[in-house]
Amino acid sequence: MSIIVKNISKRFGSFVALDDVSVSLPTGQLTALLGPSGGGKSTLLRIIAGLERPDSGSIEIEGTNATNLPARKRNVGFVFQHYAAFKHMSVARNVAFGLDIRKTPKEATAARVDELLRLVHLEQFAHRLPSQLSGGQRQRMALARALAVQPSVLLLDEPFGALDAKVRKELREWLRRLHDEIPVTTVFVTHDQEEALEVADEIVVINEGRVEQVGAPDTLYDEPANEFVTGFLGPATRLGGELVRPHDIEVLSHDPGSEFLPGTVMRATRVGFEVRSDVLVESDDFTGVVQCVATRAEARSLKLDSGAQVWLRKAPGSTSVATDAPLSAPNEFPFANYTI
Ligand code: ADP
Ligand code: MG
Repeated sequence: MSIIVKNISKRFGSFVALDDVSVSLPTGQLTALLGPSGGGKSTLLRIIAGLERPDSGSIEIEGTNATNLPARKRNVGFVFQHYAAFKHMSVARNVAFGLDIRKTPKEATAARVDELLRLVHLEQFAHRLPSQLSGGQRQRMALARALAVQPSVLLLDEPFGALDAKVRKELREWLRRLHDEIPVTTVFVTHDQEEALEVADEIVVINEGRVEQVGAPDTLYDEPANEFVTGFLGPATRLGGELVRPHDIEVLSHDPGSEFLPGTVMRATRVGFEVRSDVLVESDDFTGVVQCVATRAEARSLKLDSGAQVWLRKAPGSTSVATDAPLSAPNEFPFANYTI
């Protein structure tokens, strides 16, 4: 294990930002810290970096107790959402900065900067100023600068958060490839579940200062530990006493008998290749609006139009967690992710 976080707690005044957090982050992997805004992700990252002191607990980095080490002695590279580049220095000088202050010989620095700029695909921009780069290019420069001093750990705090959706998607694919090429232990903070699912080897879900679950993306999606993780990792809807993924609800247009609950389609909306429908179920055991999702072809053959009669059940073998969360009122038409 490369980073061992043990019983870390941190308060700001009376506010508990981290509450006895323990987690181990494996060497060479890309781990995402995922959770809603204000959950404590940045605080944990800053404590690992040595930019913030915990009230209690310890941090071990690559076998060294780093709890009392200053940031500059921890050998970590850090990239923030808004990267503060040296505006008057070229891209190459910005990347070389950490090497220059370590008094690395000129030739070695030049070779390393060339190599890094190639790695982040900025070799043709070496002599530009940071202001002459796009947002995505600037974040790639920031990564090259963080990597220049060969950190044992790379910490990224929402590095693509300020960029538009398309560039973010490109950069996350690029980051995944970069990490496969040079597998530096990387911790990546994000509040975007899709970003975490796509990029990370392992995800640590953090909410209200606590770790909710740790696991591989598929494990978290398929075997969420609780209601919070189920709802945060993807859409979920309540059927009976369970929280279920909308695509795991089997919908039939005829009455098959037992197990299925009868319902009426209140609304069906096409979103890209899928059709999302809100079905009002009124039965003896359960009354509420259930969100279902079908492909367009399925929706067409089931005639999923508003007013249609349908029968629902949770598909056998699919993921679910028990819930006693309040039901959606029939006239509310919940649409986005289930929220706790
Ligand atoms: P995240 O990165 O998950 O959005 P943060 O770790 O930044 O969350 O913050 C967790 C909580 O701690 C937030 O409620 C935030 O307002 C609070 N917090 C963070 N840093 C400070 C600080 N320096 N002073 C006071 N409160 C802070
Ligand atoms: Mg943050």
